[in-house]
Amino acid sequence: MTASDHGAANASPWRADVTVRAAVLTEPGALSVVSVPEPSCGPGDVLIRMRGTGLCGSDLAVFRGERRPPRLPWILGHEGTGHVVEAGGEVSGLHSGQDVVIEPDYCCLTCDACLAGRTSACGGRAAVGLTVPGLLSDYVVAPAAFVWPVAPRLAPEDLVCAEPATVARAAMRRSGIAPGRSCLVIGAGSQGLLLCQALIAHGVTVFVQEPNEARLGRARSLGATALPPDGRELPYLFETSGARGALEQGLRRLARHGTAVLIGMDTSPLDISPRDLVAGQITLVGSLIYDHPADFAQTVRALEARTPARLGAVVSDGYALEDVQKAFTAASTAAGKVWIDLS
Ligand SMILES: [Zn+2]
Ligand SMILES: [Zn+2]
Repeated sequence: MTASDHGAANASPWRADVTVRAAVLTEPGALSVVSVPEPSCGPGDVLIRMRGTGLCGSDLAVFRGERRPPRLPWILGHEGTGHVVEAGGEVSGLHSGQDVVIEPDYCCLTCDACLAGRTSACGGRAAVGLTVPGLLSDYVVAPAAFVWPVAPRLAPEDLVCAEPATVARAAMRRSGIAPGRSCLVIGAGSQGLLLCQALIAHGVTVFVQEPNEARLGRARSLGATALPPDGRELPYLFETSGARGALEQGLRRLARHGTAVLIGMDTSPLDISPRDLVAGQITLVGSLIYDHPADFAQTVRALEARTPARLGAVVSDGYALEDVQKAFTAASTAAGKVWIDLS
């Protein structure tokens, strides 16, 4: 299966006769709700009635014009949950009425990276909301291999966090951090908060650095501690903010032989000397999304076991689809995660 075989990746997956609502970016900074044809379900696809879609930094980057979508108007959103309305003829294990979350990175499953289990490095990966149309719509189609059934009656605020929580859990896995250790998390936006939550559930002591008081307060309510200005060094660092200079600042608090995991995507060159990295014996780990299927499977298990108790504890604001412009504008400074309620 290649990305182009996926129904959701086809140029025209729409059924012309029925229309549904979708939020589209018409130009940088401007969203509107329009009617689009209902997507039609290919034999390997699932048609999903969406219940909610979360917003994150990469959606905001496209919204602000920092990242270019393939075309305009463009449907954003990749953190989605809903229930199955129709499963294609070749689909097994998914049926109408089932609650699901979508794994929105459709890797090819056939290249060397995919065969080695490193699907995040797949060159043929379709990224929902970035390279194929997104999930801010009443109905979407997704290839069945990337649709995960979940236990019924989980709250939509928890389920919209499944995808970004998987990003956080994959970063934690790649760091190799063990229970009982301590770390610094830079940034308490939604990714930073989900990472704090995952690390604390793993038995790690988390110190957090975040200039926004409301976000810092939310990180504290999850069990993290504000980084004291005492110069103490920590064995692990997770940089989630993507803010210029944040990684360099964090590295100054990283102990010798420490591990720094990079998740935030600042584009400016680093101001670090190789000598400092060598002398400190620092391991740098770039952590991009997650690997299919193991990382998502783990998140679904954690959701159902309620560890952490509520992924949705990182959610601060929900908006109706009609208020999508307001939601995107508010998301940059919101105290927690923002989501669009599509129910
Ligand atoms: Zn995201
Ligand atoms: Zn691949």
